Amino acid sequence: MNMLSFRDTHCHFDSEELALRICAESLDQGITGILACASSIPDAQMLCKAVQNIPNLFFAAGVHPHEAANFDGDTACFADFAATGKLKAVGEIGLDVYYDFADHESQLRVFRQMLDLALSMNLPVSVHCRDKEDSEEAYRLTYDLLKDFSASGGRFVIHSYSGSPAYMERFAELGAWFGVNGMITFKKAENIRTLAKLYPADKILLETDAPYLAPVPHRGKENTPAYIPLIAEALAAVRGVSLEEISELTNRNAGNLFAIL
Ligand SMILES: [Zn+2]
Repeated sequence: MNMLSFRDTHCHFDSEELALRICAESLDQGITGILACASSIPDAQMLCKAVQNIPNLFFAAGVHPHEAANFDGDTACFADFAATGKLKAVGEIGLDVYYDFADHESQLRVFRQMLDLALSMNLPVSVHCRDKEDSEEAYRLTYDLLKDFSASGGRFVIHSYSGSPAYMERFAELGAWFGVNGMITFKKAENIRTLAKLYPADKILLETDAPYLAPVPHRGKENTPAYIPLIAEALAAVRGVSLEEISELTNRNAGNLFAIL
């Protein structure tokens, strides 16, 4: 049997050298398309250079909620990013009231600005949303913003979704895609497996969020896009379908949202 191919629709790299090495290693494992998400503008500038030398690497440029207070609002560099032909999304953007590294006002201001930018550039967005324990405030605020965004024709993925099934349905009504990562292999993450069963088949994406969230049996160590097949196997088991089916389905979905090869 030929090796199956997969995409990683959400990961991070600290440097071009690291991206070069890891993307090559991952290609050997059949990972033919990797979408690296920037956390800040300097991060996006590094990726903008890296994608020009790495065939299976694509990128998303944006300002992570943790970085929101440090962002001056200047988006002129996005024209250079788009000129590479490998800018496939605005991201990672969103809200994080769990860590609270940036004040909520800055987070919301930057999130709104990035959504408007995505609409003007006709790009999808990769959204991070994390709430405090026993709170749905971040989901409520994110839902309100994405409702307007999707009404204007915007398309989005909620990466690493870990909210309630009820909010998942509300986001799905807006046409959301959902990113499934190594958490699906964690022993106690029954909620993640429940969600993975519920996602509409045409809206599921595979992601690692590397270097974080390495799947079992690598949990706690450094994650890499090369581990995508472990996540795909877990997803296939949860949904009761073959690995081939997961490969085909998630590749098609990644192509539909991000137009990555
Ligand atoms: Zn991320």
